[in-house]
Amino acid sequence: MADNTQVAITDLEQDDRIDEMQGYFARALQAESGYQKLATDKKDQVNGVLDQLRSMRFDSAASFQAVADSLLAPVAPDLAPYLQIALSNAQADLPQTLGVLVIYAGGTIGSAPKDPEDPDSPQVVMPWKDLKNAAPQLSALGYPVDAISFVEPLDSCNVGPAHWRTMAQIVQQYYADYAGFVILHGTDTMPYTASALAFMLQELDKPVVVTGSQVAGIVNPRNDAHQNMITAITLANPAAHKLPPIPEVFIAFGNRIVRGARSKKMDVTSYQGFDSPNFPLLGECGDHISIDRKLLRAPSALPLAVFDQMDTHVITLEMFPGIQDADIVKRILADETLKGVVLKAYGAGNIPTQPEFLDLFGGFVQRGGIVVVVTSVPTGQVVMGLYETSQVLLDRDLIGGFDLTAEAALCKLMVLLGSYPDDPTTVKQLMQQSLVGEQGLNLLTTTYPGAGQVASNQQADLAAVSLHSIGQVERIERVMLRLKQAQLDTGGEQYASLSLTLQDGTDLGTYRREAVLAADAIGASLAIDLTRYRDQFVSRDSGSKMGNTQRVGFRISLSGASGASLSWQDAELNLYAQD
Ligand code: ASP
Repeated sequence: MADNTQVAITDLEQDDRIDEMQGYFARALQAESGYQKLATDKKDQVNGVLDQLRSMRFDSAASFQAVADSLLAPVAPDLAPYLQIALSNAQADLPQTLGVLVIYAGGTIGSAPKDPEDPDSPQVVMPWKDLKNAAPQLSALGYPVDAISFVEPLDSCNVGPAHWRTMAQIVQQYYADYAGFVILHGTDTMPYTASALAFMLQELDKPVVVTGSQVAGIVNPRNDAHQNMITAITLANPAAHKLPPIPEVFIAFGNRIVRGARSKKMDVTSYQGFDSPNFPLLGECGDHISIDRKLLRAPSALPLAVFDQMDTHVITLEMFPGIQDADIVKRILADETLKGVVLKAYGAGNIPTQPEFLDLFGGFVQRGGIVVVVTSVPTGQVVMGLYETSQVLLDRDLIGGFDLTAEAALCKLMVLLGSYPDDPTTVKQLMQQSLVGEQGLNLLTTTYPGAGQVASNQQADLAAVSLHSIGQVERIERVMLRLKQAQLDTGGEQYASLSLTLQDGTDLGTYRREAVLAADAIGASLAIDLTRYRDQFVSRDSGSKMGNTQRVGFRISLSGASGASLSWQDAELNLYAQD
């Protein structure tokens, strides 16, 4: 069940705009006939109040108007009818510069000692105003920096889906009004927030920049808070700084610009605290900002699409030696509310292979659960089926997360389960495809439903079905035909051979295989690597509205001892394509 909670936020704080508007207000009021009719000494008094107002700061036009009314009424009651008119004229005259909206969530960046007299007292997160006032450089940027804060700015350990939903909804509500958005956030869970928002805010054509700091920015003269905040705001308003726009959710921290859905916290104290170990930096911020244009995703021509339903019935489970001997996994997977597991496997996607342990996961998947396998190693990817230890996972319908970070995998699972609550097939398909550049490979699966069998020196067909593929052969990395739950009886010989052709007779080679027996209840699959024939599997579909018209079928011939036979329960063609 998706959760719709949000968190309390402040009103939009527009003090930069109100500062600018005050000059326009003074001129607009002086142009009104009501002002011009005043005696000179009254005018002087009114001008004195206008100067006094200009020395004050206001968050909103409404609070400015309330104070202006209360100060001007005793001095010049006759002006009362003109005040609202002057305010409207001033607002209309303001240049419509798009600024940046800061969403202040909290974190070290805005923290200060709880006891101002005791620098060693515990740090607490302070209001946005304190941080803004501590960073006078902001006023030199030349465009408004408005803000909305969580009413209770947080240490990011306390951030969760309700906060992500609130952030996404703020971006949605103000999308047209700003050049870009900056989220000020604690560093501890920043990669989760950046990943979650990347999946929640799709079809972006503006930057959403997440930043924070290692050293608090309000009381420490030496800090990384101001630098990170200014850099993030700069990247959120690329046109104002003649920079190429980065229309996605990303982290700008220290010198690095990191794709949000690829980000990881790498260092507890370093000013370069984040990286994307499986993807290059989008750019670097040294004495000037350089952005790697070839890595940028094109701004979407579609309207912003917000996916703010998240299902939190998910868990990350990391493998460690001994986990297979404990009952704890059994109990976790038996929880009826659990819908998805991110399994942090060893190396390229390996877990202990004791059948009882594997069957815990297999059973969970059969009950409708989703298990996504990622690697617990910081760099590298899971390619399921590469080793036997991960082939057994594929046989149990666990899915491979390629080079997804565990953080991104968990957030993606929450968003997909929340967006497609009754459609695990779509969740599984989309989990294996790059939605926002979060992974390097897409898995496209063509399914051949139904069981089949073939005896020695005979042939059987996988009847042609619509091919799921892509148009560029150079992006196809691997093509695998998998006969699932296969049994190959080699008739007493060591090997039997399978010859494959396409339905039109095109040769796809001959493959020698040892026996595959029904080793356990689930059964193994027999995989044939067809990557060298990838040209045959390029999509030539016209993209016609009537759907995919390119159909691909196979003929399988078996040769070997006279008693040899091969059977399978169903089959699929797996095509791995670069993002
Ligand atoms: N615990 C803090 C937080 O994540 C740490 C930080 O911001 O660096 O909010």
